[in-house]
Amino acid sequence: MSAPPPGAFDVLVVGAGPIGLATALLLTRAGLAPARIAVCDRKIPAPPAELAALPIDLRVFALSRASEKILRAAGAWDDVADTRAAPYERMHVWHADVPPHGGDALVFDAAEIGERDLGVITENAVLQAALARAARRAGIPLLEAQIDSLSQDRRHAVLRAGDRELRASLVVGADGARSVIRELAGLGARRGDYGQTALVAMVSTARAHEHTAWQRFLGDGTLAFLPLRDGRSSIVWSLPTARAEQLLVAPVEQFERALTADLDGALGAVRLESERVKFPLWRVSAQGYVTARVALVGDAAHVVHPLAGQGANLGFLDAAALADVIADGLRRREDPGAHSLLRTYERWRRSENELMSGAIDVFDRLLARGSGKLAEFAQRGLPWVGKSPLVKRVFIERAMGLAGELPSAAR
Ligand SMILES: Cc1cc2nc3c(=O)[nH]c(=O)nc-3n(C[C@H](O)[C@H](O)[C@H](O)COP(=O)(O)OP(=O)(O)OC[C@H]3O[C@@H](n4cnc5c(N)ncnc54)[C@H](O)[C@@H]3O)c2cc1C
Repeated sequence: MSAPPPGAFDVLVVGAGPIGLATALLLTRAGLAPARIAVCDRKIPAPPAELAALPIDLRVFALSRASEKILRAAGAWDDVADTRAAPYERMHVWHADVPPHGGDALVFDAAEIGERDLGVITENAVLQAALARAARRAGIPLLEAQIDSLSQDRRHAVLRAGDRELRASLVVGADGARSVIRELAGLGARRGDYGQTALVAMVSTARAHEHTAWQRFLGDGTLAFLPLRDGRSSIVWSLPTARAEQLLVAPVEQFERALTADLDGALGAVRLESERVKFPLWRVSAQGYVTARVALVGDAAHVVHPLAGQGANLGFLDAAALADVIADGLRRREDPGAHSLLRTYERWRRSENELMSGAIDVFDRLLARGSGKLAEFAQRGLPWVGKSPLVKRVFIERAMGLAGELPSAAR
């Protein structure tokens, strides 16, 4: 194929977050030439000399096995795994009404299904830098541009960033929860406020984390401790916003006491090791994922509650699914923005994401914050999941991204 004119691409990905970068990399694997794909972002960070020299990022993700496979296919996994990544082997989940170490706590162990771990904890900045490095290595242009307008004709989508014009057969909106592409393309979204804010910080604990992710449903929210490689843990503490705002500025000792108490002492006394950062929690669900010459992936299409640690994992599956349908289209000599391809992607990923998002909301409403008969029933039922190997396996496989209709890179 001949080189495209300046500013013209087969696919232009808007958003150099983890999902946008992964989409671009997987599209090269689908058969598109790297120079005909571009990723643009309002800010493209300079590549660090060494990933290990990146400052610690408090935004930490639990990545599933499916995401690991997708990152491997994208050529970024080795860098992620080598840079402070922490595999976790177990999940220990319990409700505030039962003791943490009793028989009513639910323990998911990778060994039970013959896996080495359940996934890996990594920092957002490491993930993004590893993917940007892989994109540069592959020869995908990374452009600094803040997109402010979009128009479509029969053959192209045309984006403008100030007086710069960029055109492509397909624009992928990977521009996060407040997606401008979603809005400019007229793809509406249902938004819901959880009324909660997540506090995120790095902590140390008197007892070792034992490579286990600890999660307690509190009655008014959820508290997760994610194990880090250096023995510390990263917390995601989702609380009613008024309480979160108080704890955000509370004196350190008061914060530590409240945190230790909310984990019911499961890891002994907890010490704060970093600043505290807050994330107001919203649910977003795009009413359509595609329109003429535009497709949405990642948080631009769906934002879910962090209690199941699934947001980025769902986004990586979107990226890999879109690459699969475009690869099929290229084999039939279709152009990557052909509407029938985009509709196939939408049908596939929207149903999977709505299923997971619905399940997460049920967990939040009944287990994390619920009161009343139904919630009581669900809370009492939680330990029974652990008593049925079959049900337990279904839960583990869903969380690891090993179930559902998987794109080729995740298999
Ligand atoms: C507290 C918390 C904990 C979480 N924990 C987990 C977890 O354990 N596991 C998990 O899988 N997920 C987790 N998530 C979810 C995860 O953070 C998101 O799903 C993920 O970061 C989304 O990535 P993205 O690439 O879609 O969007 P983003 O990372 O938001 O990237 C969007 C990019 O688009 C760019 N952009 C925006 N507008 C424009 C524009 N107009 N022009 C150009 N560029 C633009 C931005 O600069 C940005 O770089 C958590 C979320 C929260 C809040």
